[in-house]
Amino acid sequence: MLVKGNLLTFRQGSGAATAFTEIRSMEVVDGFIEWIGESKNAPTADNVVDFGNRLITPGLIDAHAHPVFGGNRVTEYEKRSQGATYQQIAAEGGGILSTMWATRAASEDELVATGKKRLNWMLANGTTTLEAKSGYGLSLDDELKMLRAIRRLGQETPMDVIPTFLGAHAIPPEFDRDRSGYAALICNEILPRVAEQGLAEYADAFCEDGYFDCPTTDRILTKAKSLGLKLRMHADQLTRCGASQLAADLGAKTADHLEQTDLEGIRALKDANVQPVLLPASVYALGLHHYPNARAMIDEGLSVVLATDFNPGSSPTASLPFVMSLACTQMKMTPEEALIACTLHAATSLDRAQDRGSLEVGKRADFVVWDCQDFREIPYWIGAPIVEKVFIEAREVFSRA
Ligand SMILES: [Zn+2]
Repeated sequence: MLVKGNLLTFRQGSGAATAFTEIRSMEVVDGFIEWIGESKNAPTADNVVDFGNRLITPGLIDAHAHPVFGGNRVTEYEKRSQGATYQQIAAEGGGILSTMWATRAASEDELVATGKKRLNWMLANGTTTLEAKSGYGLSLDDELKMLRAIRRLGQETPMDVIPTFLGAHAIPPEFDRDRSGYAALICNEILPRVAEQGLAEYADAFCEDGYFDCPTTDRILTKAKSLGLKLRMHADQLTRCGASQLAADLGAKTADHLEQTDLEGIRALKDANVQPVLLPASVYALGLHHYPNARAMIDEGLSVVLATDFNPGSSPTASLPFVMSLACTQMKMTPEEALIACTLHAATSLDRAQDRGSLEVGKRADFVVWDCQDFREIPYWIGAPIVEKVFIEAREVFSRA
């Protein structure tokens, strides 16, 4: 198949990658890009799909999401609209634990069914690869159930789903604030089963004083690493407790959130080659204003990633274009930086840059056809349905028409 359109490619120069578009063609064979270049030099093909001057970008990659859970938190959303804080709602039994009860009550099939609906929302917003975390089961059986549901979403939808074990998301009520007891359950029982069954590629932890403090996070993620899992970390979201430094010390692939990270923390990430994953939709959805310091991270030479943090409590959005918009307006990233953060940099953060994240020979033909010509329009038209078609390995998996 020969695909013609306004193809977006990246130039890897000195320093950061830059994006540019040109009306060109790419030849796709068996789901991979075989050739890309000037249309006049294109190989002959029986099947030519011409998108004219429409923008074609790599498929978007969402490197931080919690798409599997029971119920929703719309009642809390209404309470917050009336002035209640996230902490007040958690104290009344809401928050992560309310989602935990709903997730424990749901069957694996129910989690898959609701998960499919949410993955379809993501596809309609241009996402083709998704990282998905457990963390609403918080017991051996329920965490395994969530991870099996995540695996099935990868098998039963067109989306490529990369699983992350996030048992250290909250302390379940049966441990009644016995952080150490719950950490022991994770290390001695849950993690070995997760590794043995091959249910997760990454392990993650919500590193925060009062939840999983640095020593507890260290204990859990060191165990995960010894079992062959790679690491990601929720760090510096609410307070600065040394989480960035710990992510650096552990050799984590990413440190995520980073709303409170200072220059010292940013430099620790840079020195240890840990990529920042920024989640501005969670700041927005909680009605907060303290966005992470993306400019300082970019200035220090870090390859910033943007992700949705899709979850029922603090970030109920499936849209990376919306996240890109927030990045431009609230964190002063350029449209180019925002787009690279959701494609090439996101692929690198998931160890997938060898086969996706850019339109290049040898990579998967995962791409989005947009109802616009200029990539700056993606964050600019806030909330508009400008994704026209989505292809994964050259197969059309979404069409707005
Ligand atoms: Zn998260």
